Amino acid sequence: MDVEKCLRGMTLAEKAKLCVGMNFWMTQNYSKWDIPSMFLSDGPHGLRKQDTNNSDHLGINESYSSVCYPTACASACSWDRELLDELGAMLGREARQSGVDMLLGPGVNIKRSPLCGRNFEYFSEDPYLAGQLAAAFIQGVQRECVAACVKHFAANSQENRRKAVDSVLEERTLREIYLPAFEQAVQAGVKAVMTSYNKVNGEYPAQNFHLSKEILRNEWGFQGVLVTDWGAMDQIVPSIHAGLNLQMPGDDGSSAAKIEAAVKCGELSQEDLDASVKRILQFIAWKKEQAKKWPAVAVSAQEGHALAAKIAKESIVLLKNQGGILPLDPSDSIAVIGEMAEVPRYQGAGSSHVNPFSVICPLDEMKKVCPHLVYAKGYTGETSNEKEWKQAIAAARENNTVVLFVGLPASYESESYDRKTLKMPQIYERLIREVATVNPRLVVVLSNGSVVEMPWLRQVKAVLETYLCGEAVGEAVSDVLFGVANPSGKLAETFIRRLEDCPTYLYMTDGEDKSDQAVFREGIFVGYRYYEKKKIKPGFPFGHGLSYTSFAYENLHLGRKKMTDADVLEVSCVLRNIGTRAGSETVQLYVSRKNSPVAAPAKELKDFAKLHLAPGEKRQIVFHLSKRAFAYYNVEMQDWYVPQADYEVLIGASSADIRLRGTVHITPKKKWYPLATRNMVLKDILEDPEWFEVFYSKYKEIRPYLPFGLAQMDLKENAFAKAMLENMTLHSLASYVGSHLTDDDIDKLIEQLNRVHHI
Ligand code: BGC
Repeated sequence: MDVEKCLRGMTLAEKAKLCVGMNFWMTQNYSKWDIPSMFLSDGPHGLRKQDTNNSDHLGINESYSSVCYPTACASACSWDRELLDELGAMLGREARQSGVDMLLGPGVNIKRSPLCGRNFEYFSEDPYLAGQLAAAFIQGVQRECVAACVKHFAANSQENRRKAVDSVLEERTLREIYLPAFEQAVQAGVKAVMTSYNKVNGEYPAQNFHLSKEILRNEWGFQGVLVTDWGAMDQIVPSIHAGLNLQMPGDDGSSAAKIEAAVKCGELSQEDLDASVKRILQFIAWKKEQAKKWPAVAVSAQEGHALAAKIAKESIVLLKNQGGILPLDPSDSIAVIGEMAEVPRYQGAGSSHVNPFSVICPLDEMKKVCPHLVYAKGYTGETSNEKEWKQAIAAARENNTVVLFVGLPASYESESYDRKTLKMPQIYERLIREVATVNPRLVVVLSNGSVVEMPWLRQVKAVLETYLCGEAVGEAVSDVLFGVANPSGKLAETFIRRLEDCPTYLYMTDGEDKSDQAVFREGIFVGYRYYEKKKIKPGFPFGHGLSYTSFAYENLHLGRKKMTDADVLEVSCVLRNIGTRAGSETVQLYVSRKNSPVAAPAKELKDFAKLHLAPGEKRQIVFHLSKRAFAYYNVEMQDWYVPQADYEVLIGASSADIRLRGTVHITPKKKWYPLATRNMVLKDILEDPEWFEVFYSKYKEIRPYLPFGLAQMDLKENAFAKAMLENMTLHSLASYVGSHLTDDDIDKLIEQLNRVHHI
């Protein structure tokens, strides 16, 4: 397919129509130009292909059957790039086999608040982790000749009022927290980006020139298709101008008519429209070429199911295991309690909802290992009757060990609305408490898409967080409980103890904020970046997860003690399995800037590696850290900057369990200086030795005219004088000494100061 030829030949009307979907899931086709329709389908953890005559994007109508893999909240806990790549590749194959050209995933929005109803579709509160997993997923999908579509661009971290809400945030917060995962997706070569429903700093992303044109296209060099979320289009003409390519779903022709009219009257340039159309044509051309080069690989539901089980086992997080109560002994007398053992929750509601081939429940799988186990339902949905309750308590009393399945009912979390509480239904909490009273050997298995409060935590011996781990939940949970699989999941979000600890609580107390502005007041302090700085002890910290074996961290070595920001730091350490079982561990690398000149988190994740070791085995891990691992986004420079400082490299088993530390001193190759202005505080001048001298010669002249006794004190010798002057500005100094420091004098001084560093 010749993209340039199509562009030259297509009429204005044809081009305009190509920028809008043909129907709910497909793009326009033109046989005359050899341009086929592209089929777009969700989603992030399973294919949701629908009949185009029976379509919706809210999980209302059914889709064709497909494999339901663990949702992103679960798979993120694997911290395993290769596994995410494998998941992407499998989804890519399924998509291709079903005639789907673009898979609408992954979702990389940051978990700003655990209340977001869609957190189960997102990876993490940490942008680096989210970006790394997304990049791997994308590469897997696209190797199979299917485009991935990273979503929802950007700062889309709540469902409440989602189509009207304006995410108001500072540039630094945007760059450091909400954009890096998208940036990593673009670096990984993602073919499509989906704009979000919310506004960002006053503009919908599709028409937000700063976001879509300046950052996404110009800075990051994104060459793919920018598509709206379904029904997110506000103004098509400014959107095309800002770099949007495709409005989805299609409409009755009115958007195309607006584009056509705008070009005719000069409101939209032909170049803007051509640029937009070109990206769609290039995507179609890529698709066709790839399909010719690589034969499709057929996949079966069984293969998909096996992968779903593998990912689930790698993702389940063992949060607590007091006295090593887990793994269970199959010869023990075990009571399994809770309807969720029989009717598991394994995925969330909304556009990502998959119609699975076969869901395996934990109870059936556990019975295969332990046929004599006793089951009591305990509750039905969110209620319980006397009989169910009595049977559950009796089963708990009469058996040696209890495994209790609870979590969040499906109605608690979904696309389109936020949660109002972090609590589980009261009846579940009561059941835990009453069972614990009659049998303290209690293991709680949780199924939920995001954080739940655990006021009962001290009363139970073990907690297994399974999240929403897909259709193979049964095999995965049973294998982990009985020790067939050794748990290795690590939390990709902080489990706070109570909702009030979350910084967003102040403004969205019950998830029902009536304002159409979501001001991200906590700035860069999201998740562990906030809790650590505020010294708020979480229930379970970011990165936490136990194993049935233990690991020793040894021999940290930093390749340099001093370096510039242009150098690469090699960091190595050794991980040793000192337990008696084979197991996997994720070694986490955090960086902490000491005496940071700008507000900064106590530490930030900058790399990680997951290793599988046999008992007694040890292995060396080598990380390479370059500029970005140490930098913050300097808004005045409009660039990433590494200030001169000591940087601690921390290696840990979680954000709170740091095992090894080393320090490197970094100097920027090109030091950044602010521009001198008449309103800057003198402190900034006095702290710079070269600026000090320039200022000092002028200061000597005006000192005799300073008020408050400052005329008698020299700032070089007198600490009080220095302290008094430090928070003054040049303009306020002038206001005290009048004609002895004129506007001309100030301008001259500023020029001299700026000459020191900027010319
Ligand atoms: C969701 C997207 C999804 C789209 C198509 C929207 O409701 O926000 O994530 O890809 O529907 O189903």
